[in-house]
Amino acid sequence: MITNTTRQFLTVLISSITILWFNKRYRRFVLVPVIIIVIGFLLPQKMVIPVRGATTADWDVNSFWAYPWGSSITHKGIDIFNQRGTDVLSSTYGIVVYTHEGGKGGKSVMVLGPKWRFHYYAHLDEIDAFPLQPVKAGTVIGTVGDTGNAVGKPPHLHYAITTPFPYFNLRDTTAVQGNRKMFHLNPDTWLRAEELSD
Ligand SMILES: [Zn+2]
Repeated sequence: MITNTTRQFLTVLISSITILWFNKRYRRFVLVPVIIIVIGFLLPQKMVIPVRGATTADWDVNSFWAYPWGSSITHKGIDIFNQRGTDVLSSTYGIVVYTHEGGKGGKSVMVLGPKWRFHYYAHLDEIDAFPLQPVKAGTVIGTVGDTGNAVGKPPHLHYAITTPFPYFNLRDTTAVQGNRKMFHLNPDTWLRAEELSD
């Protein structure tokens, strides 16, 4: 589901550039999507911990890319533990891309934030968001739960960030699935820094 979103994003981007380029009438607009991408990268990012009242002590710093991790092979996010029903907050401003029910994530929400980063919130008890909804950092988008493959486990928010544009510096030749690390950002990196700066 996560990688599907970034793949679809790239497909739309590449096909729109291709269509503009090969249509002589519209070729002069070919830089429009490129400029939109650049603007997106320039947008500043300020993040909040996406569970109300949570601190950096509520997730395991080593859980990102933990292995082995069931059918996912590696754990491409962090699990923020809290009581069922606690508010799940959007960590950044952005736009809700989709809400979904079913599969490994259970009830889940995907938000596109600044720098073309996709923020994925899973195992929600309730979803409180709708597609194309604009959100701010701190907007309630659901509640902590144990849906999907978290059924029967302590309620937690699975929070993950993916990017359609690879970060080549994050490629890790020693880790399992290490090449994929270019497309999965560790939320801990920013959440810990934000807490220190407060
Ligand atoms: Zn998880």
